[in-house]
Amino acid sequence: MACLDQLISLSARLGRDLDLVQAGGGNTSLKQDGTLWIKASGKWLIHADKDDMFLPVPMADIERGLAAKDEKFQEYRTRSGVALRPSVETTMHAVLPQSIVIHVHSVRTIAWASRADGQEGLTQRLQGLRWRWIPYTHPGIPLTERIQQELVHRPDILILANHGLVVAADDCAAAETLLQIVEERIGVARRETAAATDTSLAELAAGTAWEVAPDAEVHALAASSRSCEIALGGTLFPDQCVYLGPGAGILEAGETPTQTAERYAARYGMEPVFLLVPGRGVLTRKDLQRSARELLFGLKRVVERIPEHVDVTYLPEFQVARLLNWDAEKYRIEMARAAN
Ligand SMILES: [Zn+2]
Repeated sequence: MACLDQLISLSARLGRDLDLVQAGGGNTSLKQDGTLWIKASGKWLIHADKDDMFLPVPMADIERGLAAKDEKFQEYRTRSGVALRPSVETTMHAVLPQSIVIHVHSVRTIAWASRADGQEGLTQRLQGLRWRWIPYTHPGIPLTERIQQELVHRPDILILANHGLVVAADDCAAAETLLQIVEERIGVARRETAAATDTSLAELAAGTAWEVAPDAEVHALAASSRSCEIALGGTLFPDQCVYLGPGAGILEAGETPTQTAERYAARYGMEPVFLLVPGRGVLTRKDLQRSARELLFGLKRVVERIPEHVDVTYLPEFQVARLLNWDAEKYRIEMARAAN
């Protein structure tokens, strides 16, 4: 039988894997005796075994909220008495019948779920498993209602287009095993292996608000024209625009980082978080937050798994605007920033 302590250690384990969880993304839950134990909004799974973050939400409260289409959940208290709001994805967990639900922003899944041929490609790879492809739907009640339409197929796996992965099972071990099976089956060769950065990147940033991105791995995002093209094309998944902005800034020939940032700000109405220097690497703001730093890993690992000659599907602009103006999302971002 599933228990909360098992879920907590599973959650922390998932949270430590940047291929599955970046920053405050992803959430896990347990159903027990009419209660949904769910991660609090904005909390990071990586801290699950140190920071009490699971809230007991009565299933009746969730059903009432869902019927009234009311997403503004009240605060509930963790076992240690801290009052917090439940995850914005609470209703999605509640409508799945399995005891354990894991939702992660798996980079392997998002890479497939951002391809125009993704559903077709996964049909072969996930053969024999009960899975459904869920077209992109705004997180929260709209996504939950879209998932409800698929429950007649009794899925154990949901591929959320341009968003991530959900696996569900009746105990923690089975859920974790299922997650591993999916991750193994959908793995693809990565296009980029390394980026050659040199001192010219640091020279470019000298005297500006920019610096060479602190994590060597993310420079591969600017290594090839294909990766730059994918990153520039728009938003592949919600947390990308939430933490890294609605687009990517890219240095054009002869431009300084400051000029690129100004061009970006004029277009998007906000400062860029990172700049691509084609063939050379990535610059990040000097005040880069840990959440953005983790999302850069996520973006790079998604982009390098999208092959050369496939069509990429981006979030439509109205969906990006909806994510950036979303009240529940603002609360989550505030919490995530306060926690780190
Ligand atoms: Zn999500």
